[in-house]
Amino acid sequence: ALAGGTKPPWLRQRGAQGAKYNHLKEQLRGLELHTVCEEAQCPNIGECWNGETGTATIMLLGDTCTRGCQFCAVNTARTPPPTDPNEPENTARAIASWGVGYIVLTSVDRDDLPDGGASHFARTVQILKDLRPDILVECLTPDFRGDLEAVGHLASSGLDVYAHNIETVERLQRPVRDARAGYFQSLDVLKTAKAAGVTTKSSIMLGLGETDDEIIDTMYDLKDVGVELLTLGQYLQPSGKHLPVRDMVTPEKFKEWQDFGTNVVGFRYVASGPLVRSSYKAGELFLESLLR
Ligand code: SF4
Ligand code: SF4
Repeated sequence: ALAGGTKPPWLRQRGAQGAKYNHLKEQLRGLELHTVCEEAQCPNIGECWNGETGTATIMLLGDTCTRGCQFCAVNTARTPPPTDPNEPENTARAIASWGVGYIVLTSVDRDDLPDGGASHFARTVQILKDLRPDILVECLTPDFRGDLEAVGHLASSGLDVYAHNIETVERLQRPVRDARAGYFQSLDVLKTAKAAGVTTKSSIMLGLGETDDEIIDTMYDLKDVGVELLTLGQYLQPSGKHLPVRDMVTPEKFKEWQDFGTNVVGFRYVASGPLVRSSYKAGELFLESLLR
């Protein structure tokens, strides 16, 4: 319901520039690597790529999802094209020869695959860590239909951060997410990943009609399953067919949530702002959180 021209000033996109950004962009030309940062024209690309660590996001398992969440602009199909068995190796090699210090590997939901694609993720992490043990790897994963064995396998693959987004408060799960997703299923995914001894992370979109009390409950539920890192961002409607934006949360309110999440709930870090997305400056924020 908010066309480009009526966006509040804090949502206007910033142009990307900077020495490190230019360098990473230049290096990418010779590599077979497509970043979500560029393809989704992410407004954070300047901050993420110019960061001291340098954070970028790569999609595995294709661009077609088996689900259809009401907030998401990704293409959907019951049977997406088959996966590329060489993708883990090729992607890992390309990332290893690129200059980012922190890579986020993510994917659509592949309910058509026996393990939802978890072993494909795990293989990519293993090859990448063999080639570049110094690179920090976050996997931002689907729920694998609640297949906790698949989650445990991936969480033990050598990754540094296991991220899975709960997306919204309990009451709004059904209108917002696909019917196969669920609040408690997502909490179980995070709990299982945590049990493997890795850092876990989640994200909530604001502006979908949730109340303050519901946000607080969700934060505590995430904290209770061991989540240490949290991001909060404004939901923006990708097209007229998607869920409308109910509230525009101000930058001041996002800052209050950040303080509440860190000082009261006790997350190691909370990145909270209108344009914050799950992987926003993930490298710097992860390293900072280790110092806390
Ligand atoms: Fe890339 Fe994520 Fe940063 Fe956007 S927020 S630039 S997608 S790493
Ligand atoms: Fe989008 Fe993920 Fe939902 Fe698929 S499962 S429609 S990629 S949010």
